[in-house]
Amino acid sequence: MTTLKLIGYWREKEAFTKPYNPSTMIQKGGIVDPDYWRDPSTDIYPWPGHLIDNTWWNIHPNETKEKVIAYLENGIPCNYYRGFSGCRLCEETLSSFERSDGVWCWPNKFEHYIRVHGIRIPEKFLEDILLGRNIDLKENFSCGSIPVDPSDWITWSH
Ligand SMILES: [Zn+2]
Repeated sequence: MTTLKLIGYWREKEAFTKPYNPSTMIQKGGIVDPDYWRDPSTDIYPWPGHLIDNTWWNIHPNETKEKVIAYLENGIPCNYYRGFSGCRLCEETLSSFERSDGVWCWPNKFEHYIRVHGIRIPEKFLEDILLGRNIDLKENFSCGSIPVDPSDWITWSH
C-alpha cells in the first residue's frame, strides 16, 4: 500500500512555557495544569503562524490560489478520526478527517489556513497541483485508513 505524504499538521501552541512533565502537573488539591492535556508528540510539527506569507502568494497569480483551494476541497476523503480539530490561529472548528490525491494527504479544511490566514505551502505540492500530476483517483483509491508520512512536511517547514 502507498504511503501518503502528510501535510498540514500543526503543533498545539506556538510555544509552551515549560517542558512537558505530567508528574508535576497535578498539584495538591487536585489543581491540574492545563498543559497536562497537551500532546507532546505534536511538538515536531510547525506553528502555522510561522508560515503566513502573503508575499509568497503575491508572486503567484490569484487564480493559482483559487486553484489550490479548489484542489484541496476536492481531495478524496480518507483517514477518519474521532475528534474535530480547530484552527490554531482563530476560533474556527475545522474537521475530523483527511483528504488525499493519491500522493499527498492533508486535513480536510486545510484550505482555511490559506484562504483566511495566507500560509504558504510546499513548492513541490504546489507544482503537483498546477501540473495536475496526482489526480487519478477514483479507480485506484478507496476510503479507509491509509498510512501517512509527515517527514517531508516537517523538513520543509523548519
Ligand atoms: Zn483560522
